[in-house]
Amino acid sequence: MSHLARQGLLDRTIVVNIFVGVLVAAVFVTVTMLAYRAAVTQTKDAALYQAQSWYSSTLAHIDKVDRILSGDGLTAAERARVRRVSEAARLVGYGLYTEAGLLVRSAQGTIIFDVDDYPAAREEARRVLAAGQPSARMDLAFHDAADGTTFVSVFLPIFRDGVAVAVVNASFDETSVWRSEMSTFWQTTAGLALLAALALTGTALMALMLQRQRRHEARIAHLATHDPLTGLCNRTAFAQRLRDAVSVARRSGDGVALFMLDVDRFKSINDLMGHDVGDAALRAVASTLSARLDKRCTIARLGGDEFAILQPGVRVKEQAEQTGRTIVEAVRQIEVAGETPLSITTSVGGTVATNGDEDELQRLADAALYYAKEAGRDQFVMFKDGMDQAFRRRSALRTMVRDALKKQTFQLYYQPLHEAATGDLIAFEALLRMPDGSGGFVSPAEFVPVAEEMSVTPVLGAWVLREATKAATKWPAHLRVSVNLSPQQFQSDIVGVVEDALRRSGLDPRRLELEVTENLCITDPALVGRELTRLKALGARIVMDDFGTGYSSLQHLWTFPFDKLKVDRSCMMSLDESENVAEVMRTISAMSGAMKLTVTAEGVETDAHANFARDAGYDEVQGFLYSRPMPLGAIGDYIGRYRDGTATPTPDNANAPAPLSQAV
Ligand code: C2E
Ligand code: CA
Ligand code: CA
Repeated sequence: MSHLARQGLLDRTIVVNIFVGVLVAAVFVTVTMLAYRAAVTQTKDAALYQAQSWYSSTLAHIDKVDRILSGDGLTAAERARVRRVSEAARLVGYGLYTEAGLLVRSAQGTIIFDVDDYPAAREEARRVLAAGQPSARMDLAFHDAADGTTFVSVFLPIFRDGVAVAVVNASFDETSVWRSEMSTFWQTTAGLALLAALALTGTALMALMLQRQRRHEARIAHLATHDPLTGLCNRTAFAQRLRDAVSVARRSGDGVALFMLDVDRFKSINDLMGHDVGDAALRAVASTLSARLDKRCTIARLGGDEFAILQPGVRVKEQAEQTGRTIVEAVRQIEVAGETPLSITTSVGGTVATNGDEDELQRLADAALYYAKEAGRDQFVMFKDGMDQAFRRRSALRTMVRDALKKQTFQLYYQPLHEAATGDLIAFEALLRMPDGSGGFVSPAEFVPVAEEMSVTPVLGAWVLREATKAATKWPAHLRVSVNLSPQQFQSDIVGVVEDALRRSGLDPRRLELEVTENLCITDPALVGRELTRLKALGARIVMDDFGTGYSSLQHLWTFPFDKLKVDRSCMMSLDESENVAEVMRTISAMSGAMKLTVTAEGVETDAHANFARDAGYDEVQGFLYSRPMPLGAIGDYIGRYRDGTATPTPDNANAPAPLSQAV
C-alpha cells in the first residue's frame, strides 16, 4: 500500500474513530437513561398497584370515606382509625407510610382532610384531581439514602358517578422493588460501559496501530531516499530530483546546474586515519555544504566520497561558477576533529543546462570533475566543450579493459635489448597490448593507468608474469626477460605471484628482470624495500625504469636494492636539443658505474643515438633502431638472425610492424 493511500486510510480511521466515539457515548447515555427510567417506572407501577389494591381492599370499605367525600370532616377518633387502618396495611405488607397519610379533597378542590400538609404534594393532588389519572412520585415521598429505604408517593383519584371527586395520597415502601430494579440498572450500565470501552479502545487501537505503521513506513521511505551516514539524499532520490529539475528547467528556460564532487584522496584518509575519521569527514562535508549553500540546492551523497549538488533557477553561468567556488572553499575550511585535526579538500566539476537530459548533464559534470582532478585537485572546473571527449575516451578504455580481461584478448609484445658495446642480443622486455577493437592496439601508457584505477593491475600483472616467464623458457638460455610491475601489485603478495610464475614456467630466476618506476619508492618505502629485497632474494634482477622523468633521486638508488637503471627515452629524444642533456646522460652513466649498477639507454632510434650511448658508457640499449616491440611469433626469427650475425640494425626495423595505433 502506498504511503499516500495509507495516509488517507489513517485520516479516515481518525474520523471513523471520532464518529464511533460520539455514537457510543450517545448510545450509552440514551440506554442508561432508558434503563433508569424503566427502573423508576417499574417501581412506580409497583406502588400504583399496591395503592389500588390497598384502596379497594381497605379504604374503600370505610364508611367514613363517603362521609368525608360528602363534605363532612372527620372526628379525632375517625382520624385515628384511618391511621390504624394504614398502620395495619403496612403491617400486612402494603408498606403504607402513615405519616404521609391520606389526603382527601372535595370535588371542588377544597381540602377536607389533609394529614400531610406538604405544598408539593398538594400541588400534585390538584393535578391528579383535574386529570383524573393516578400518579406515582418518587420525589415527593420519604427517602432515606442511609439505609436505602425508598418510598413512592401515590396519588389515586376517587370517582363518584364517573367524576374524580377526591385524591387519596399514600406513600408505599418500595425499597425491595427499587433495589432490584437498580441492580438490574447497574448491571445494564456496567455491561454497556464495557461494550462502549471495548468499541472505543478497539477503534483507538486501530488508529494507534495505523499511526505506528505510518511512522514505520515513513522511516523506511526516509531510508530508501536518504543516505544513513550524512542524512543527505541518496543516489535514487537525487536521480528523481535531477529529472524533475531538468524538466522544470526545460519549461521555465532557467538553467539547472549540476556539480559532481569527490573528496580528494579520500581513500588514503580512510586507510591511514581509520574509517571513523573518514566517516566524520564525509559528515563534515555534508553539514558544511548544507549550511553554506543556497537552500534551494539539493545536496546528495551518491556513495563513497562522491557527492552531487543540484542548483535550480540558474540565470547566468556566473551564478553556477560562484556556487562551484563556494563548494571548494567551504570544504577547504573544514577541520575534521581527531587525534590530529585533518584538513580536507575537494575536486568539483560542474555544468549548466537549460535543455538536454539529465544523463547528458551528469556526463558533462563528470567530465569536468575528471579535469578538476587531473589539474591537481582542490578546485572547481566548469565544463567546456571538448572535455567530454577525453572523459568519453576514459570510459571507453574502462570498457575495453573489462572486455579484454573477460575475453582474454590481452597480448604481450616483446622488445629486444642489446649490449651497447657489441650489439649482442641480451634480453626482451615484455610490453602489454590491448586490442582496440579495430585491428590495432591501445598503448599501455594510456590503458595501464585506467587499469590501475579499476584495481585490475594485480590480476593483469600476474598474467603478464606467467606469460613472459613461460615464453622465455623457449629462448636460448642467455636471453633474459624483463617484466614491468605496477605499484598496485605491491599491495598484494607480489613475491608470491613472482614465485608462482617462476615455478610454473620453470624459468631460471636469474633470467628474470623486474622493472619498477620511482613512484613506487615513495608511496610506502618500508614495504617496497622489503618486497624488492625478497624479490631480489629469489634471484631476479630489480630495475629502476623511466629514470630521469620523476624525482630521479640518488637516495632511492641507494636505499633500494636496484641492479639496473633504465634512463627514460625522453632523455634520448631531447639529446639533440641541448648539450646539457648529453652531459646529464653521461653523468647518470658514470654514477651508475660507480654504484655498480647496469645502465640502459631507452629510445635509441638512430645510429647517432646508439653511438652516443656506447660512448657515454651505457651497458645496454633499447629502441626502434633495433626493433619495435614484436609479437611472440616473430621472436624466433629475430633471435635466429642475431645468432647468424645477419642482422643489420636499421631504424624502424622491418622485423616488427608497428602495431601500436599511437606508436610512440
Ligand atoms: P616503458 O616501460 O618505458 O616501455 C618502453 C616503452 O617505450 C614502450 O612503449 C616502447 O614501445 C617504447 N619504445 C621503445 N623504444 C622506443 C623508441 O626508440 N622510441 C620511442 N619513441 N619509443 C620507444 P609501450 O609498449 O607503449 O609501453 C608504454 C609503457 O607502458 C611502458 O613504458 C610501461 O611503463 C607500461 N607497460 C607496458 N607493459 C606493461 C606491463 O606489462 N605492466 C605494466 N605495469 N606496465 C606496462
Ligand atoms: Ca619498462
Ligand atoms: Ca622506460
